[in-house]
Amino acid sequence: MREFKSIVNESGKGKFYLFTELCKGCGLCIEKCPKNDIGWTDRLGIYGAPTVESGRGEEGCNACKTCQNICPECAILIEKIQ
Ligand code: SF4
Ligand code: SF4
Repeated sequence: MREFKSIVNESGKGKFYLFTELCKGCGLCIEKCPKNDIGWTDRLGIYGAPTVESGRGEEGCNACKTCQNICPECAILIEKIQ
């Protein structure tokens, strides 16, 4: 079984796990986040394109999981912070 490493950001109500080996840098998650909480980083993903992280918005993540559900590569996992 292959295991993927993740980078974790905490923002607002959400823990944002990004599996950089899966992210292709399409930007869909950035476009669809209702809190404008996702932005580009200088860490590169599977095709050498930039990957993303949370923590960019003023209000923080609300753990809606839109990014997790919309990512075509299943590169994001959101955990709600209690
Ligand atoms: S939607 Fe998925 S593949 Fe596209 S930039 Fe966001 S995390 Fe990466
Ligand atoms: S869970 Fe919702 S608010 Fe949080 S980063 Fe993803 S799309 Fe944005």
